[in-house]
Amino acid sequence: MGTGFRIVLYTADEPTARTAIDAVWARIDALNQTLSDYDRKSELSRVCQLTNDGPMREPVAISDDFYRVLARSLEVSEASGGAFDVTIGPCVRLWRRARDMHQLPTPERLAAARAAVGYQFVKLDPSRHTVQLMAAHMRLDVGAIAKGYAAQEAFDVLKDHGISRALVGAAGDIYAGDPPPGRDGWQLGFEAPGKSGTNTGVYVRVRNCAVSTSGDTYRFAEVEGQRYSHIIDPATGIGLTTRTGVSVIAPDGMTSDSFGTAMSILGPARSIALADQTPGVAAMVTSFDSSGTPKVEMSARFAKYLVNGITLPADTTLEVN
Ligand code: AMP
Ligand code: MG
Repeated sequence: MGTGFRIVLYTADEPTARTAIDAVWARIDALNQTLSDYDRKSELSRVCQLTNDGPMREPVAISDDFYRVLARSLEVSEASGGAFDVTIGPCVRLWRRARDMHQLPTPERLAAARAAVGYQFVKLDPSRHTVQLMAAHMRLDVGAIAKGYAAQEAFDVLKDHGISRALVGAAGDIYAGDPPPGRDGWQLGFEAPGKSGTNTGVYVRVRNCAVSTSGDTYRFAEVEGQRYSHIIDPATGIGLTTRTGVSVIAPDGMTSDSFGTAMSILGPARSIALADQTPGVAAMVTSFDSSGTPKVEMSARFAKYLVNGITLPADTTLEVN
């Protein structure tokens, strides 16, 4: 998964906790072997390799995990008007190259990559659990949805072992289950976008839901003084240059993770609208004006999770929509 996982749990039964945690690591390992785009032998990589000589001529059967992640990905692509796109892989490769070489791709390379991007090229058959990739050189990338899925799955493993007072965190993607004893929720804080280790002063109290944060605080490429986020706008094939920070609360991990990424591209107004029209989804979006002053916008549903109101830094504007 390219990230560390952190588990917090409450139980009086330590042996069961140890067994449960071992089962969680096994589950995460299995997900990694299925969904990793770094591992050339993962199920995801092997399916993509079937497009090396052209579009796949016939569908292939895939595992339940892979199918579920792809099916949800396509739904989120539709819901976000294509901002979220699980076929973005070829552009992600160019971004990694740009990050390492401090050089943008040539127009030719960019055009070639973009020709292999488009969620419409992914054909799923729900009755047979098959996928067929309909363009050449396709590379799927579940980096914006699989960590949320893994956090949720990890929690489900704990629950199967009778442990429900637990929280699982995979970097910016958290699943919070039943609250700690004597509490009515898990209290979570948020870092200020772009400023690792700082605190926005925004705290939410949540239980039995997923919370994801997307942004370019930790992962960006820098070319000629310009910062390019690891979040790529499918409309250009290039990393975002507008700074944003998005946090999403949702009923499940795949939704919070993928919506966080999609909303980074959509910008505040469209993100708040998308949150309001999606059952159970709440969003907080931070944007910056040309002088770098942050503006925090929240959907009405997000504001309901706040603990004791908010104390934002003096130069920040807040809008609850
Ligand atoms: P996240 O940290 O959840 O916002 O996910 C970011 C990761 O998702 C990137 O590192 C890429 O691997 C991948 N990604 C980048 N842009 C997109 C996009 N527009 N749609 C789907 N996945 C993306
Ligand atoms: Mg995401």
